Amino acid sequence: MSVIKLREVTKTYGGDVHALRGVDLKVEYGELVAIVGPSGSGKSTMLNLIGTLDRPTSGVVRIAGHDISKLSDRELSALRAKNLGFVFQQFHLAPGVSALDNVADGLLYTGTPRRVRREKAAAALERVGLGHRLGHRPNQLSGGEQQRVAVARAVAGDPPLLLADEPTGNLDSASGAEVLRILGELHASGTTIAIITHDMDVAAWCPRQVKVRDGAVS
Ligand code: ADP
Repeated sequence: MSVIKLREVTKTYGGDVHALRGVDLKVEYGELVAIVGPSGSGKSTMLNLIGTLDRPTSGVVRIAGHDISKLSDRELSALRAKNLGFVFQQFHLAPGVSALDNVADGLLYTGTPRRVRREKAAAALERVGLGHRLGHRPNQLSGGEQQRVAVARAVAGDPPLLLADEPTGNLDSASGAEVLRILGELHASGTTIAIITHDMDVAAWCPRQVKVRDGAVS
């Protein structure tokens, strides 16, 4: 079973914007793949479908074996909580909240007790090299450190699939390299990672590149 499987997927907005025009894509467990293409090519639309935040106009999207068109919103939320971690270009951390609680709160919807949430959060922050910053709030952290907190939040529940949307887009090159190094370690320990990017260096760093252009994949 593939972790991501798209078959003849189309997405049309407003009847006449054909954002995806029949995409076939398989990503197997354990891959580290870049989804790369210029602005407007359909990457975010693909990410929204793979992230089960939207449904296709036609075709089939399977995530961890589940056909997302057949699931209710509640079932999709459960699928996301169990299988997916998200990292965005903007770190989307709660201001005024410690790194530990930012990560622990990401596990609220998994039904994990508070004490266990905090233990898992501390372990995830340790994994991204921030074990010494548990009590720091986002405004006390550098951009690179904030993105590492966001990565810790995404992987604290050990999801099989991590989706990262331009994860280095807001970082200087040293911080970006550090975030990629951490993603590389997560991949080495078994997490499947898809990175959406228009940065050719980030794409080249990934073992596999999926090229998106005008709503189609090559
Ligand atoms: P990328 O992420 O590669 O920049 P997008 O998936 O955001 O590309 O966009 C693909 C195409 O779909 C573009 O032409 C964009 O303008 C259009 N599009 C994206 N989202 C919407 C939307 N919600 N409504 C209408 N058009 C959209």
